[in-house]
Amino acid sequence: MTVGHFCVDCGTALEPRTVEGRQLEACPRCQFVLWRDPKVVTMVVVETPEREVVVGRRAIEPGYGRWCLPGGYVNHDEHPEQSAARECWEEICARVELTGLLGVYHIRKQDAASMVGIGYRARLREGEVPSPGAEMLEVRAFPADQLPELVFPSHRQAMADWRRDGVGLGGSQR
Ligand SMILES: [Zn+2]
Repeated sequence: MTVGHFCVDCGTALEPRTVEGRQLEACPRCQFVLWRDPKVVTMVVVETPEREVVVGRRAIEPGYGRWCLPGGYVNHDEHPEQSAARECWEEICARVELTGLLGVYHIRKQDAASMVGIGYRARLREGEVPSPGAEMLEVRAFPADQLPELVFPSHRQAMADWRRDGVGLGGSQR
């Protein structure tokens, strides 16, 4: 909180201000307050027609070379569902149909804003064959009980919620 920041609207140096009991930085010249908001990310458990789960091996940090679910940051003008489908398109190069919400996860970070993760389940649209996007080394579908370990705890939590729902075991309509 001691690092100086500048107003994104007018460029004035921000000053400490207590807002709703929190010590924040605010602009003395205009209305801008530097809120410490969480980032919003999605993660998607994508099912194939064979009830396998599509995962990718990361071509970028964090977690280079490790497996993860498709997903990523939600843009400010996107519905999280739109964002989830877009990330699937970019990361596993496949169009998906979201079929449900798995859970909402709080992802704490030591050195950055925390994140709110939104986990969805989805199925591949007919005829779609996943392949690696620019941020993936490899994309594969695994039976749920043979899935490699996922690098992010929130992705493991989403998988656990998917398993608990039993949606991988037959009834994907709910
Ligand atoms: Zn300002």
